[in-house]
Amino acid sequence: MQTLTESHPRARKAHDCSACHRTIGRGETYLRQVNVDGDMWVWKECAHCQACRPILLDGLLADEPLPPLLDTLHELAYESGAHAILDMHAQHGWRYLDGGVVNLDYVGQLVATATKGGGQ
Ligand SMILES: [Zn+2]
Repeated sequence: MQTLTESHPRARKAHDCSACHRTIGRGETYLRQVNVDGDMWVWKECAHCQACRPILLDGLLADEPLPPLLDTLHELAYESGAHAILDMHAQHGWRYLDGGVVNLDYVGQLVATATKGGGQ
């Protein structure tokens, strides 16, 4: 796979996150990649999924493809409290029951805790 372009636009309309499938709302910043691998496709990823990338990259070799986010978080859910909370929020599309989006700084703190060996 080759990435042709990568940008971080602010959404002017709703998009689906390619990683967690939640709706990226108007006004949210997201990752937009145009990739080619025989076919050409656009990958759109919400800021919350991007914040979790350090967990996906942890122990990954440079030439290995990025594993699927939701599966990886779910497999790691028992590693620490931070992993478990991230898995729960990811499975619910980074939204609370009232529809509010989970605070991005909070996600960043959980990721930092999870990648430091877990909240011991
Ligand atoms: Zn997402």
